[in-house]
Amino acid sequence: MPQQISDDAARTTAPRPASPAAAPGAGADAPVGPTKIAVRDVSVFYGDKQALFEVSLDIPDKAVTAFIGPSGCGKSTFLRCINRMNDTIPGARVAGEVRIDGEDVNVRTVDPVLLRQRVGMVFQKPNPFPKSIFENVAYGPKIHGLASSKAELEGIVETSLKRAGLWREVADRLQAPGTSLSGGQQQRLVIARAIAVNPEVILMDEPCSALDPIATARIEELIDELREQYCIVIVTHSMAQAARVSQRTAFFHMGKVVEMGSTEDIFTNPGDPRTLDYITGRFG
Ligand code: ADP
Repeated sequence: MPQQISDDAARTTAPRPASPAAAPGAGADAPVGPTKIAVRDVSVFYGDKQALFEVSLDIPDKAVTAFIGPSGCGKSTFLRCINRMNDTIPGARVAGEVRIDGEDVNVRTVDPVLLRQRVGMVFQKPNPFPKSIFENVAYGPKIHGLASSKAELEGIVETSLKRAGLWREVADRLQAPGTSLSGGQQQRLVIARAIAVNPEVILMDEPCSALDPIATARIEELIDELREQYCIVIVTHSMAQAARVSQRTAFFHMGKVVEMGSTEDIFTNPGDPRTLDYITGRFG
């Protein structure tokens, strides 16, 4: 039985476990869908500096894939390749292929705006628009023309807030500003906003790092519920979180993927000594 650690602070203070650390969660061995995102030989350069080196991996549908690894190893850069957010960074250049359902996202015929409708993104710090709760969720469906009537739009907003586990807390104050919610509620609002445009993939870049443990637990439960419908990719600095929420884990190190496998295997029987060193807190 692997020794469990409750959070990353424990990694630095606890005695070094002899075996890998975080225990996989109840959903770790849930079945995963077919490959949704196939990545081949992706390299990313910021000016002259290379941040990713020929990364290749397959990300399954209807599952949560966690990216772990020390700061600066390229996890966020890689996440941004999936919805072409690196296009928005001056001097950034991406080589290689990212295919979603077989379609290369980098070809000129792919409209990045439509791509980002299919591939939603949730950031570290909740970022609601300076608008009402209702408008935060209604905005995307409106600009993408997803509702033909006010009633339909209201239906999308309600369904999205329900899926994000926020409806009961906000149903009676939909006109209040999104920014009036707590941090954890704002993060669920942003998830509702992403869900409202019918995405297929949801990218989450350290979605809980600004939240307290209770709000974090709520978001983790939500991620576990959402995986049945979406392809979810989460970057996290918390080993325990990766182990709790994901079915697949990829370990990044110095711009490369050292290994990717089932979360169970990565945390209990990693194939590479660098993975073992990282998950047991020997560096990070
Ligand atoms: P991680 O998410 O694993 O912390 P990042 O993807 O943020 O890693 O960073 C990978 C490398 O790319 C780092 O060396 C970082 O300094 C560099 N980098 C990230 N974003 C930029 C940027 N906008 N401009 C220049 N360098 C960047």
